[in-house]
Amino acid sequence: MAKIIQNHEECIGCGTCIALCPKYWEWDEDNKARIKAGKFDENKKEYELEVGDIECNKDAEEACPVSVIKISN
Ligand code: SF4
Repeated sequence: MAKIIQNHEECIGCGTCIALCPKYWEWDEDNKARIKAGKFDENKKEYELEVGDIECNKDAEEACPVSVIKISN
């Protein structure tokens, strides 16, 4: 299993992760991206989701201009 984590607070809403990986990423009501079905940690302001296969999330991690997407194994 791997975990996808997004620092939602620092997302600038560029949309790159949604374009590259729409299976896992979507817009929220503040025009920022969030992880579909991700769990939101109110204290850390982070979304996280456990996945069996990271698939296109690697592309999203590498392309995020402010490096707020992290994948941990
Ligand atoms: S690529 Fe990064 S900055 Fe752009 S919308 Fe996704 S998480 Fe936010």
